[in-house]
Amino acid sequence: MTTVGILGGGQLGRMLAVAGVPMGVRCVVVEPAADPPPAAAAAEVLSAEYDDSRALEELARRCDVVTIEVEHVPVESLAWLAERVPVRPGPEVVAAAQDRWAEKQLFARLGIPTAVSGRPELMADAFAEGTIVKRRTGGFDGRGQVRLGPSASHADLLAAAAQITGPCLAEGLVRFDRELSVVAARSCDGAVAVYPVVENRHRDGILRETIAPAPGATPDAGSVVIRLMEALDHVGVMALELFEVAGALLANELAPRVHNSGHWTIEGAVTSQFEQHLRAVCGLPLGDPSPRGPSGMVNVIGVEPDPSAVLALPGAHLHRYGKAARRERKLGHVTVVGVDAQDRDDRMAAVRRVLAG
Ligand code: ATP
Ligand code: MG
Repeated sequence: MTTVGILGGGQLGRMLAVAGVPMGVRCVVVEPAADPPPAAAAAEVLSAEYDDSRALEELARRCDVVTIEVEHVPVESLAWLAERVPVRPGPEVVAAAQDRWAEKQLFARLGIPTAVSGRPELMADAFAEGTIVKRRTGGFDGRGQVRLGPSASHADLLAAAAQITGPCLAEGLVRFDRELSVVAARSCDGAVAVYPVVENRHRDGILRETIAPAPGATPDAGSVVIRLMEALDHVGVMALELFEVAGALLANELAPRVHNSGHWTIEGAVTSQFEQHLRAVCGLPLGDPSPRGPSGMVNVIGVEPDPSAVLALPGAHLHRYGKAARRERKLGHVTVVGVDAQDRDDRMAAVRRVLAG
């Protein structure tokens, strides 16, 4: 038996723990939330803050390796653990991904274009289109962001920044053709596996749907995520969110962990991103990232559907996270794998209709 410690016990921790069961990998999660977290269904839960010394000592003592399911964890805790047990990805990788500014600087250093740096001419355009002021740390699902219209004044920027707790940065609003992401993994010995690039549809800053693989021709995002993983000496799964603009890519953000836009891999790929992450951090060989067919994922947000209505749809896979319903909260997702793209689209439309009630 291999024991993996995970900081975070949300739905990502739950799906990691589930993926570990057949491989003989058991997971122990640290989760500060008072209620039993989603991961409790499949993992042992240490109910404690991420900097609780007793919980960290227990992880170091019992686990073969420690990983994360959320990047907003204290880097000091990871550094303390890393002196006692392998921590994958390492504390420096998590530090780089946790601060939007550090992340943008990393992209710039590697020559990866973004909405704030590297392409001044594009940046000027974007600010003319509008500006998004974002919290540098701790944001998710579009929280901690304020959008301003075209050519916002300096006073508007200051007022937006004042609405946000902590340091922030301003990004040009990108009039993208579509949003893409690429999920990949790197093993302890430097082998890489890249899933097909997918298209993501957001509303109000929240991911609603993923189409896998992304329809039509896609710019090469695989080489970009490989460059990032190698530069950071990353081990585990990494996701890179991108904007496609006139056939070119702008990097939005990276996540050094399993990602919502990779949930389709559970049924839609030969090896799921969750199994892949455990393989990578445990020092096992990576699995085949090939798709099994055209897949789609629809997030369940805010309200849970009647499970039997979803499960009555041919080929629909329902994943429920065991979370209390709350407005704008990700409560689950539904995946479909089609025999062809049209079949996938039809199945997604049916899922959408059921989720809309
Ligand atoms: P998550 O962690 O859920 O991915 P987040 O809170 O970290 O989200 P971002 O990924 O930065 O936030 O933004 C959420 C969404 O808002 C993006 O996927 C995109 O749809 C939109 N968005 C963010 N930045 C920009 C931008 N510069 N131009 C246009 N749209 C943007
Ligand atoms: Mg994002």
